[in-house]
Amino acid sequence: MKEKEYRSLILKDLEKQVMDSISISLHDLAVEIVHTGFRCSGCGRCCKFSTGDNSVLLTYFDIDNLKKSGNINAIEPTVAEEDMFLADTEGNVHTFGWRLKRKTNGECVFLGEGGCTIYPFRPLLCRTYPFYIAEGKLEISECKGEGGILPLYHARRLANEVLQRYIIELRDTIMTYRHFKEGPLFLASQPASDYKLILHDSRGKLILDDK
Ligand code: SF4
Repeated sequence: MKEKEYRSLILKDLEKQVMDSISISLHDLAVEIVHTGFRCSGCGRCCKFSTGDNSVLLTYFDIDNLKKSGNINAIEPTVAEEDMFLADTEGNVHTFGWRLKRKTNGECVFLGEGGCTIYPFRPLLCRTYPFYIAEGKLEISECKGEGGILPLYHARRLANEVLQRYIIELRDTIMTYRHFKEGPLFLASQPASDYKLILHDSRGKLILDDK
């Protein structure tokens, strides 16, 4: 299958998921959350490197919130930390989207002694953790709080945010695909020494100077 056809199929599937999200019932979602159960134990593991990958990926909704709170400098491109890079035939490295910076010990840059220091402005991923929706279904990440008793009013608020996050992430991904015009990319173990870092997101393409 040609690259263009492949991307068009992915786009169609993402657009269908957005359309299908209209039929997700907030009430059913809240009931499912109550049945799964969740009570934050305040362990902060989700903000620390102890969970393995604690990357907080950001939507443009989150980035705008971070701007409002004066914390826009806390974001960075989601460059792969492993030893593989997405490269093009000219040796440039491509990456997709933004995440929160982390301290040298791996903790989120906003984790303080008393917990999250930007609590009212925290990203959707943090607001909804450990819940998320994938392909229309509620999923839960590993969390010590799973199974805890959760009042229905709290579950309703959570359901609302989980659904909002799902739709915003889908829309961000759709816009990223629409803007993305590059040729096929492939995995490379080493970027060229003078490579450009090219970031793609829902607002277009950005060539970054500092690698
Ligand atoms: S923004 Fe706040 S809640 Fe989210 S990972 Fe960082 S410290 Fe934790």
